[in-house]
Amino acid sequence: MFKKILIAFILVFLLVQIPFAYRRYKLRKLSATIRQLNSQRTHTPTNLNEHKGVVHVHSFLGGHSSGTFSDIIAAAQANQLNFVIMTEHTEKDFDTAAMTLQGLHGGVLFINGNETSAANGDRLLTLPNDIAIVAYPEDFKNWETPGVDGVEIYNVFTNTRRANPLVALFDVLWSHRAYPDLLFALYYERPNESLKKWDQALARARLTATPGNDSHANVGISLRDSSGKTLAGIQLDPYETSFRLVRLHVLTDSKALDTEQLLAALKAGHSFIGFDLFGDTTGFRFEAESGPERKIQGDEIPLQNDTRLRIHTPIPSRVVLFKDGSVILNEAGITTKEIPVTERGVYRVEVYVPEVEQIIGEKPWIISNPIYVR
Ligand SMILES: [Zn+2]
Repeated sequence: MFKKILIAFILVFLLVQIPFAYRRYKLRKLSATIRQLNSQRTHTPTNLNEHKGVVHVHSFLGGHSSGTFSDIIAAAQANQLNFVIMTEHTEKDFDTAAMTLQGLHGGVLFINGNETSAANGDRLLTLPNDIAIVAYPEDFKNWETPGVDGVEIYNVFTNTRRANPLVALFDVLWSHRAYPDLLFALYYERPNESLKKWDQALARARLTATPGNDSHANVGISLRDSSGKTLAGIQLDPYETSFRLVRLHVLTDSKALDTEQLLAALKAGHSFIGFDLFGDTTGFRFEAESGPERKIQGDEIPLQNDTRLRIHTPIPSRVVLFKDGSVILNEAGITTKEIPVTERGVYRVEVYVPEVEQIIGEKPWIISNPIYVR
């Protein structure tokens, strides 16, 4: 009798593992697909300079994290990032923004900011030059808050928090060693709710979309003894992995990047969000032309007879164009596309890679900032 129960138990255990083995197989396929896609990259005709970096990073300064400055600098270098925007939690008795990384360190430009909470629970990322970005927009209440420049429409931490811990545990056991970064692809979801809130807010004001890596380097599975010493553990979100998932790509006129240029580009929305985990998004462009005027994402342009939008993607992709939050174009196989504009409105683009969608479902690779046709 006992033996039968044991055999039944083992059988059930093995059956339960099948989906996780399949999920690991999917990651292998995804990895090969991304490698293959990267070999199809096209040249971007542009006179702008592109700088990639991450937004919403915590160190040991504001609690929750034990990450050191050296860890963060090394991770940024390993990811070949041009900038990192620090957003430390506040402390009652000292100024964490003043104390965190700022300026150039190891060739990476750091901006020193805070993550703050209002009395009603609304959270903002506050940066120098009075830049404020709505964090966790799905919970944000007071959209009339004055002086808001942007919305964090995607947050890695919010996304992964929705994962079922038991499913995640088996995924980690099956796939973490081979695919520590790509593992995230199994959990990545389009931030529908935040995008909706942003689209609604765009009807009233210009708002830059930013991604939030929300890197703490504090998520993991570990076995500790009674004194708190780690006996065995897997850290799931070291900065180096977190910085690989999603990035802000900023466009400027100048080749070198300094604090003022970066903050100005951020405020102006001269940037896009790239889920670089699925392949480097460098080279994506969303521009508008009207007579002699040439504008890029984040800008306003007047509506004229010849006004048109132009989209360029780094590899052949499916492009979805939104006007005031509604889809007006959805077309696959695009590298360059010109679209005449006949109506005023807020236009923005999402880019999808069909080969990746076949494996992990409909999840955007790129989310642009808007062009405002006035
Ligand atoms: Zn945070």
